Amino acid sequence: MDASRIDRIRNVIRDVPDFPKPGIIFKDITPILTSPQAFGATIDLLLEHLRPLALDGIVAIESRGFLFAAPICRELRLGLHVVRKPGKLPAATDSVEYSLEYGKGTLQMHTDSLAKGQRVVVLDDLLATGGTAAAVARLASRQGANVLECDFVIELGFLEGRKRIQPTPCFSLIPF
Ligand code: AMP
Repeated sequence: MDASRIDRIRNVIRDVPDFPKPGIIFKDITPILTSPQAFGATIDLLLEHLRPLALDGIVAIESRGFLFAAPICRELRLGLHVVRKPGKLPAATDSVEYSLEYGKGTLQMHTDSLAKGQRVVVLDDLLATGGTAAAVARLASRQGANVLECDFVIELGFLEGRKRIQPTPCFSLIPF
């Protein structure tokens, strides 16, 4: 992939120390969104990676995953399958629990969102420990989808989130 376009995106990602709690360096992607060049480059690079996979849809994780999934789905004419926090989706849902640093999280998807055998990827803005994406891949597989990989704009490599998602492959644009 084109290193100069990758660097253009990397250079605008903002580190916010001690957010949302002490000791966490939060990777803020909002400067990508406010820069038409950086946002355009991010979507273009994700499109280059995803186009050859001949997907049927993208399973996107609330909420920052939605921002990247929507323009890609529009461009590739794919279905966008939203995974949301509990209580947000109005029709019948299936839920998955996953462990957080302290306690547990839950995510939900409409039971009629995915069809059996659909070729999908899971998309989120950032891979940290991999717990969230691994849970969503489980949820989508349980609904009968064929989860080809998990994709991210940013990967915090030192947290080794890929290991948690195995054997599903991972792809990220910008490793830190
Ligand atoms: P994990 O399940 O540990 O891979 O966490 C991934 C989810 O938490 C993603 O939805 C990220 O947006 C968010 N997240 C975790 N760590 C960070 C971080 N350092 N900066 C920004 N977002 C993060």
